[in-house]
Amino acid sequence: MLYLNKKIILGVLIFLTVLIFWFVLEKENQKAAVIFLDVGQGDSQLILLLGDVQILIDAGPSANISAKLSQHLPFYDKDIELAILTHPHADHLRGFISIFKDYNVKSFMFSGANYESRVYADFMLALKSEGSKVYLARSGNAVSYQEIPILKILAPLRETWAKNFKEIHESDIVSQLNLADKKFLLMGDAEEELESALVTSNAITDVDVLKVGHHGSKTSTSENLLKIAKPEEAIIQVGRNSYGHPTPLVLDRLTQFGVKVFRNDQVGDVIYK
Ligand SMILES: [Zn+2]
Repeated sequence: MLYLNKKIILGVLIFLTVLIFWFVLEKENQKAAVIFLDVGQGDSQLILLLGDVQILIDAGPSANISAKLSQHLPFYDKDIELAILTHPHADHLRGFISIFKDYNVKSFMFSGANYESRVYADFMLALKSEGSKVYLARSGNAVSYQEIPILKILAPLRETWAKNFKEIHESDIVSQLNLADKKFLLMGDAEEELESALVTSNAITDVDVLKVGHHGSKTSTSENLLKIAKPEEAIIQVGRNSYGHPTPLVLDRLTQFGVKVFRNDQVGDVIYK
C-alpha cells in the first residue's frame, strides 16, 4: 500500500514537472505575429503580441473561427483584448457570434453604420450581452501597445455611427499595422472610391504587405493605390466562391507591380513572425 502511494506521488510529480516545463517552453516560444487566417471565403486577421495580447480583425464567415483561434492561442488564454469588425457583411462578421461564446472579448471596435441583415441583428445582440467596451473607428484613431501606436485607423474618413450607406463598403475600416520592422496595410473590403479618397488625403504610405481589398475583386486594388502603397507582398483572403474572386485583372495588376501574392485558398494560413 505504502509502495503504491509512493508510485502515485512520483507519477504526479513527474506529470507536474513536465507540465511546468512545457508551460515555460510555450511562453518562451511566443513571438509577435500577424496571421492571415484561412477561414474560407471571408476575412480574418489575428495579431499576436507578447504578454498574451491579441487583436482580431474580422472573424470570417462561420463558427470555424473558434477552432482556428485555438490553434494559434495558448490553451489557457480565452481573452481577446481587441476585436475589430471592418464592416457588417457576413463573410467578415458571422464568426464573431461564436467568438463571443468561446472567448471574452474585452474591447470591440466597429463603424456602427446602419445595415439591415439578420446576422448583423444577431451580432448586435451578442455584442451587447458580451459587455465589451465598444469603440467607434474613425480615421486618426490609433491602437497602442505598450504606449506605442501600432495600429493606425485610416478609414472611415467620416462619421459612420447610425449612418446609412448606399454601399456598406464605404464605411469599411482600413488600418495600418506597424509591427517590428513591417508595415501592413489592411484594406478590409475597401473599394476603388475609398482607396482613392485615402490616397488623396495622403493616408496611404509605403508599406511592406498589402491585405488586398475585397478578396481580389476587380472593384479594389487600383493602380492608384499600388503606386503609393508599393507593397512587396500581398495577401488575398479567399476561399472557394462563385464571385470569381480573385479576378485575373487584380492578379495581373499585382504581377505588373512586382508584388508577390499569397492566397489563403492555396497556402492556408499566412503567418508573419
Ligand atoms: Zn464586404
